[in-house]
Amino acid sequence: MTNPNLIAGEWTTGETEIENRNPSDLSDLIGRYAQASTDQLEATLDRAHIAQAEWASYGLERKQAVLQGIGNELMARAEELGTLLSREEGKPFAEGRGEVYRAGQFFTYYAAECLRQIGENADSVRPDIEIDVRREPVGVVAVISPWNFPTATASWKIAPALCYGNAVIWKPANMTPASAVALTEIIERQDIPKGLFSLVMGSGRSIGQRLVESPKVDAISFTGSVPVGKGIAAAAIPNLTKVQMEMGSKNALAVMDDADLDLAVSLALGGAFGGTGQKCTASSRLVVHAGIHDAFVEKLVAGAKAMKVGHALEEGTQMGPVVSEQQLAENLAYVDLAKAEGAELACGGQRLDMPHDGYYMSPGVFLNTNNDMRINREEMFAPLTSVIKVDSFDAALAVVNDTNFGLTSGIVTRSLARASHFRRNARTGVVTVNLPTAGTDYHVPFGGRGDSSYGPREQGRAAAEFYTTVKTAYISAGTPV
Ligand code: NDP
Repeated sequence: MTNPNLIAGEWTTGETEIENRNPSDLSDLIGRYAQASTDQLEATLDRAHIAQAEWASYGLERKQAVLQGIGNELMARAEELGTLLSREEGKPFAEGRGEVYRAGQFFTYYAAECLRQIGENADSVRPDIEIDVRREPVGVVAVISPWNFPTATASWKIAPALCYGNAVIWKPANMTPASAVALTEIIERQDIPKGLFSLVMGSGRSIGQRLVESPKVDAISFTGSVPVGKGIAAAAIPNLTKVQMEMGSKNALAVMDDADLDLAVSLALGGAFGGTGQKCTASSRLVVHAGIHDAFVEKLVAGAKAMKVGHALEEGTQMGPVVSEQQLAENLAYVDLAKAEGAELACGGQRLDMPHDGYYMSPGVFLNTNNDMRINREEMFAPLTSVIKVDSFDAALAVVNDTNFGLTSGIVTRSLARASHFRRNARTGVVTVNLPTAGTDYHVPFGGRGDSSYGPREQGRAAAEFYTTVKTAYISAGTPV
């Protein structure tokens, strides 16, 4: 059976479909998924505009109940849907379950925000005139999400979009359609106008491109790679469509000579290899003070070698497979490049033969690297991390900031002075102290600088900036009596 798209409120199959296989075990066919046609896209866009006007007029508590219902169901089914997510994406089950639960929290957070949409008022500079400033929905929002956090990323866009009164057309990554259908089924069952929420599965190059070029789309929220993001921005400009983009990164974790060694190693291992390194917040550069370098490297390499790589759903697996054959090939090409650039591969970085046929590789650590190497400038999105040795705090901060990206950075230190200076001077949207570079909360802004982000921040109340438009009303009582 083909899993359908949700087009204009109806579950609809298409002329073409794709197969979705488990990257931990290629003999496991998860399902077949319809690919939306351009006619279907047009039909669902037209319907979305009608549904959005209806939704915007729903009472606040009715909207709140919808978001709460979605959040509650995601959290209650985190085990089941986390299993499905891990099966199609390859992250260990605990991470898959955690992601679905977190997605639920985004919906419950924005359920509460439905009731907190409070504007401002002011006296005019002119006498007897009042001013009311309020936010209104932008209209129909295109949500384009990646495969690495298929449920959470989509949820941190869909939840605020609905909360602030918009319709949503969701184009998920074609690599993770099962999670997309599961979330859509939950949303579609709620008390929402027909066609308010659409699922248009299909490849980014075809249906994704048509979606972002459409003048019927009022705003586009995208998470993915820098080249695709730039293309989307270019496609949006002719229609003056509002855009928000979260893209690549090259996050650094600075380890100072006064750091708690075990803490530093565990943060580096988790940050570099969690999610098989396929996180926009991954610690792909480890900037290590010479005073702790040798001890840190010894424990880091031992830790990486000890990691249990395996089937995402097997007990004890610490790192699952990479997502696809293409991603694996690109990762291995980076290992070759690193060697050619003069880096020393201390461990891992190799394809693994496992009992199941899948895209397995061992976690890799590069030593003796410098920040000019391509492996330290380009996002690899792989279970690979580089150690860059520095001889001072100032040198570490300079390396951390020497990148085109600017999503997250972290420091491990016992010094309040260093921590404070780092927090103020690291040029990233997120900065952490004695914590991993990965792992953020849902009620505060998330986003980066440089090539990592474009447009307003996501998550927390900051999301209102993108998903609403401000109206300033001037009110006079009319002719004075
Ligand atoms: P891609 O940029 O390849 O794809 C992201 C999404 O865009 C997918 O749904 C894709 O569809 C779609 N897409 C591709 N081409 C187009 C197009 N021309 N028009 C419209 N949509 C298009 O990224 P990946 O999926 O490979 O995700 C990995 C990237 O995401 C990494 O660079 C990572 O850093 C970034 N990322 C950033 C985060 C952040 O918050 N900064 C968080 C998570 C990931 P399809 O794949 O189906 O073709």
